[in-house]
Amino acid sequence: MKVSEAIFLQSNTDYQKCPKPDKPEYAFIGRSNVGKSSLINSIVQKKDLAKTSQTPGKTQLINHFQIDKKWYLVDLPGYGYAKVSKVEREKFEKMIHEYLENRENLIYTFVLVDVRHEAQKIDLEFINTLGEKGIPFCIVFTKADKLSKTAVDKNVEAYQQKMLETWEEMPQFFVTSSVNGSGRKEILDTIDNLNKEF
Ligand code: GDP
Repeated sequence: MKVSEAIFLQSNTDYQKCPKPDKPEYAFIGRSNVGKSSLINSIVQKKDLAKTSQTPGKTQLINHFQIDKKWYLVDLPGYGYAKVSKVEREKFEKMIHEYLENRENLIYTFVLVDVRHEAQKIDLEFINTLGEKGIPFCIVFTKADKLSKTAVDKNVEAYQQKMLETWEEMPQFFVTSSVNGSGRKEILDTIDNLNKEF
């Protein structure tokens, strides 16, 4: 699938104020600095649609983009930023979970993890919550260009093993790099197929 048009629609703190749920929607989430903005920009091939490297934790809004008038891409706030106060963090965790649990047109959530690091508690907790609530999701390994192919394979395998401690099977996953565009086509093809079922 090719992307011709990507436009920013609105930012919200309340899922009920998000655009009319009349198109299939895909959410992207991960820890601050995981490479989420870069990946979104790479997927839609726009340099600065999602703003990269903003002060971590500052983009605490549900950001809606409309792609080719056919689907919505949602940039969710990065979680796990230590410098945000506990009250603040709880507030936006609630916002994210309300969105994920109630947004009726949300088809798939892409959970980003940095391929260089071993499975982090905060990511696994988030993933487990998605599983418990029955929210469909997949894993996106980011920054694959920073490692050799062998090291990427080794880390992905280790992540799978870690997940298999609690999960019966590994969810769908993608290995990506916003620098060389790897994984982009696979993500777009997946979205294209899911759009057809909407
Ligand atoms: P966000 O906070 O999750 O939105 O992360 P950003 O997209 O702002 O990226 C954080 C940092 O990682 C920036 O310095 C990016 O240039 C860098 N980065 C993001 N994705 C990649 C990637 O695929 N490869 C490499 N080498 N660097 C990346």
